[in-house]
Amino acid sequence: MGISLVGHRSKKDGIMKDLAIIGGGLAGLIAGLIARRMGHSVVLYEKKGYPFHKVCGEYLSLESEPILRWLGLPIEEWKLPLLTQFRITHPNGREFKAQLPLGGIGISRFTLDHFLQAKLMEEGGTVLDNTRVTSISTLDNNHIIISDHPEFQEQEARIVFTAAGRNRPSFPALQETGQTGKRYVGVKLHVSADIPTNQIELHHFPGGYCGISAIENGGYCLCYLIEESMIKICRGNLEETEQRYLHQNPTLKRYFTQFPKLTERVSTAGVFFTARNVHADGMLFLGDTAGMIPPLAGNGMSMAIHSAVLATNLAHRHFTGSLGKQDLGMLYESEWNQAFSGRLRMARTLQSIMEKPGMTALSMAAFQAFPGLFRLAVSQTHGTKIPVPVW
Ligand SMILES: Cc1cc2nc3c(=O)[nH]c(=O)nc-3n(C[C@H](O)[C@H](O)[C@H](O)COP(=O)(O)OP(=O)(O)OC[C@H]3O[C@@H](n4cnc5c(N)ncnc54)[C@H](O)[C@@H]3O)c2cc1C
Repeated sequence: MGISLVGHRSKKDGIMKDLAIIGGGLAGLIAGLIARRMGHSVVLYEKKGYPFHKVCGEYLSLESEPILRWLGLPIEEWKLPLLTQFRITHPNGREFKAQLPLGGIGISRFTLDHFLQAKLMEEGGTVLDNTRVTSISTLDNNHIIISDHPEFQEQEARIVFTAAGRNRPSFPALQETGQTGKRYVGVKLHVSADIPTNQIELHHFPGGYCGISAIENGGYCLCYLIEESMIKICRGNLEETEQRYLHQNPTLKRYFTQFPKLTERVSTAGVFFTARNVHADGMLFLGDTAGMIPPLAGNGMSMAIHSAVLATNLAHRHFTGSLGKQDLGMLYESEWNQAFSGRLRMARTLQSIMEKPGMTALSMAAFQAFPGLFRLAVSQTHGTKIPVPVW
């Protein structure tokens, strides 16, 4: 745990931070780093202990390349695989291949999040890992963050970003209503594989899809998303689920039975893609907390990073006196919608297609006949390169 007490005097008693961030995934860590570089004091809470594995396909769209270089990620030094080719297969044996218009890099969340955590501490941020935020209240115009940290149970901050991922903490300001959409489970493990290191593959099976692509140090990330109801049919047994559904695609059957496993499976339940609010009670929501794009878009990490850039730019304007706190949420919502609403709509449509074998087969045939359609679908679910913050 790295502790630095840079900040204003709190009205309550201790040192007040400019920015408190709940959740140390990509959105939270990158928001913390940008805010530090802008000169603001930051405390970040992460309930798990770094480094740790996380469910994610680990394909990082090149939209994020400029900002990751700006943050010092050694892309060449670590020989991170550049993913430029795409392949999709169907249980009926058909496949479609294409060059990706933008492409991405392969890096595990274990390595990436750990790198960013170390960087944030190096740059003067306070990182409290193994620390769960349990509630938040307001005092005047500021926020009091309550956590289970043995020394810092109460911390005051001028602004709070909630970047707690798809499962929001259960305190009142974050409660949601009407989340009635379909629920999914994500599962991830690392394997050794014999597929090209520049290729990302997506393999359809009834009720979901499974991706595989190279990451650092010669490993591969094998990650699937499946409807929760199918896992329930197999009483939560992941191996049985894989045999029953994933093995219907012969390519996946080979991968799951022949590729040596490098890590145990990690899984996450309760994944959903319906719309959410992006701010409440003066707090801004970043990354998946504001809305999750279906993983087939390969774009959730870049959206998380982009939302961190939008939020920190606005927070900086507030700290330097050009933006009142009452306007922060509304302005963030408007910028967030402009950046992400269109791609979320397109990705949700593709998600509903990819759940049905017949529709997936039809779409693959359409891509084969009109390759421009594939490029259009990719461009509609992605943005351009995220600009490096300037202040
Ligand atoms: C199956 C699957 C495959 C995917 N594949 C890809 C892909 O290939 N490419 C891509 O770009 N995106 C992919 N995504 C999406 C991507 O993983 C997410 O969009 C991204 O991780 C969002 O980052 P985040 O910072 O918002 O949340 P997270 O990375 O989930 O971080 C949130 C953090 O908050 C912490 N936290 C939660 N509650 C508290 C609390 N009360 N106190 C303290 N800490 C707390 C959590 O422990 C967690 O570390 C995939 C998602 C799934 C489910």
